[in-house]
Amino acid sequence: MRTTDVVVIGSGFGGLAAAKQLAKSEVETVLISATPEHLFQPLLYQVATGVLSADEIAPPIADVLADKESVSVMHGRVTAVDAAAKVLTVETDQGDEQVRYESLIVAAGANQGYFGHDEWADRTFSLKTLDDAVALRAHLLDCFTTQTDEAAHTFVVVGGGATGVEVAGQIRELGARYFTDAPAKVYLVEGAGDLLPVYGGRLSTFTRKTLEKAGVDVLTDTFVTDIETDSVTVRSVDGQQRVLDARTVVWSAGVKATPLAGVIAEATGCETDRAGRLLINPDLTVGGCADVFAIGDMTSLNNYPGQSPVAMQQGRHAADMVRGATPRGTAFRYLDKGSMAVVNRHNAVVDAPFGIKLTGILGWFTWLGVHLFYLVGFRNRVGAVVSWCRSFLGTARPGFDEVVTVPVDAMAVGEDDHGEAQTTAA
Ligand SMILES: Cc1cc2nc3c(=O)[nH]c(=O)nc-3n(C[C@H](O)[C@H](O)[C@H](O)COP(=O)(O)OP(=O)(O)OC[C@H]3O[C@@H](n4cnc5c(N)ncnc54)[C@H](O)[C@@H]3O)c2cc1C
Repeated sequence: MRTTDVVVIGSGFGGLAAAKQLAKSEVETVLISATPEHLFQPLLYQVATGVLSADEIAPPIADVLADKESVSVMHGRVTAVDAAAKVLTVETDQGDEQVRYESLIVAAGANQGYFGHDEWADRTFSLKTLDDAVALRAHLLDCFTTQTDEAAHTFVVVGGGATGVEVAGQIRELGARYFTDAPAKVYLVEGAGDLLPVYGGRLSTFTRKTLEKAGVDVLTDTFVTDIETDSVTVRSVDGQQRVLDARTVVWSAGVKATPLAGVIAEATGCETDRAGRLLINPDLTVGGCADVFAIGDMTSLNNYPGQSPVAMQQGRHAADMVRGATPRGTAFRYLDKGSMAVVNRHNAVVDAPFGIKLTGILGWFTWLGVHLFYLVGFRNRVGAVVSWCRSFLGTARPGFDEVVTVPVDAMAVGEDDHGEAQTTAA
């Protein structure tokens, strides 16, 4: 059995921040992740719409941590945790392995939630993993370049949060600027009364007006009630029902914790909320276990948003307690540095501290700068700048060059994996 001081589970924002912080004290750490890359989720929609290539937002986690000698990386999925014995089981390509730890930091993220309609997972595209983005990219290219009927050129995006707004804006631009022979009809469906409801006020109004001006049909106060292969049924709060003939539905409306949250809850006696997220203690420990920490999207604490800064700050806080830089039991406090979302080319909204609110091109350049700063790896930053110039100044979509096989058929109801048969990324 392998033994180590600390196990970090997950190579996303929380896991990477924790591992880097632990490396400052050279604490022996094993980072275990089900996916081999560090995925920059906020840019998944740009991979899906051909702006960026897949590897520009997903460097291998082993490369990212290569200079941290006290950290080793293990590729595998944690399936069981014995909190009393401090041993966990990892499913790897070579079979099950066990790892004993002194402290455990879990950052296993979240999956898409479907509000009790899990069958919609097979009828929609989601954007949580790199495979999701690659599958949607191949499907969009297929719709725009090989299919001619109206349903293939009609796209319904469900969820008016940042991801939904960004995806709707970009798909509309694909039809307006790139595949001009095949214009796209795009609906953005949101249950609340406005887009980006957490921003509110003039940022929400600007977002709606900008998208509508670009040609997106914004349906607020509206819920999806049924999804079939070629149609989506929606109903507004005043009871009006509409059937939209569309072959593509991008689902970005709900969140639920990954299955590992249930495993940790059972192992530690921690309670969960309705989305299955762990109701962690103020010091980020889980249940009654002083040596098990959970952070990021798989947890719920003080209504902090499911955003990367929360996961990163929590990762550093947990790591600091483990390495003794912060006393154990110290409550975590989130420092909110603001939120932002791209609406479309040259338009973004920024909700910054001290009441600063930016819109339009100023917001867009702020968004570009911040994302460039946080994108991991010098090569990726350079690559992203080149791709952004080609996409936003010119009319290229370099990411589509990666799609080497495109099927004629769009996704079918009941398919397990829309991506597998459709595409291969170079
Ligand atoms: C499309 C999209 C757009 C977003 N845009 C923004 C944005 O603009 N701004 C912002 O701040 N936030 C944004 N977010 C949210 C942000 O990405 C998350 O808050 C952040 O990724 C959470 O980090 P995490 O470490 O908790 O989980 P993740 O980054 O999701 O990482 C989870 C990790 O756990 C691993 N894992 C899962 N289960 C297991 C297991 N059983 N065993 C081993 N490993 C496992 C996964 O492989 C992965 O490496 C966006 C999210 C999405 C999906």
